[in-house]
Amino acid sequence: MTPKRLESFILGLKRPNPYADRFWRNLIEQSVDKTKTAINEWNVDQMKRSDAAYFAEPPECICGKRDIVHVYILKNKRNQNRITIGSCCVRRWQIAIPGWQGKRNYLQSALSMVRNDRERDFVKGLLDKCVKYPKGVTVSTKQKRWLEDITGHRWRGRLWPPR
Ligand SMILES: [Zn+2]
Repeated sequence: MTPKRLESFILGLKRPNPYADRFWRNLIEQSVDKTKTAINEWNVDQMKRSDAAYFAEPPECICGKRDIVHVYILKNKRNQNRITIGSCCVRRWQIAIPGWQGKRNYLQSALSMVRNDRERDFVKGLLDKCVKYPKGVTVSTKQKRWLEDITGHRWRGRLWPPR
């Protein structure tokens, strides 16, 4: 790295990011602990799509981002407060989402994010297969794309035809 590039790199690290600032300010405001370790007070309680009937108004991430598609409702263990965040901050701050490990958990979580009966039937069908074939359910490339569109998370299960 040239000295000039190094300089701009360091400046970039120091430059305050308004989204990050807002995220921490709002999170700490709703927490008991008043430092960044307050993040440990929070768990993902629910996952929804922003177009779910559940939301009276389009949800926003506490970092200020609008137009979020996948919405995570976090609950505070100590004061029961709730905050809403989007994939933006789930990724950025590596918020643990326990439900996505394992195919069955994945499908169970997907079921909570379906938008209509067609998607519900689709996911339920795959879940049924999971019960029937405990060794593993195989999905087509098209089904994989559909699942990922519903959930916003990568499907890491087996594919048919294999690639
Ligand atoms: Zn965010």
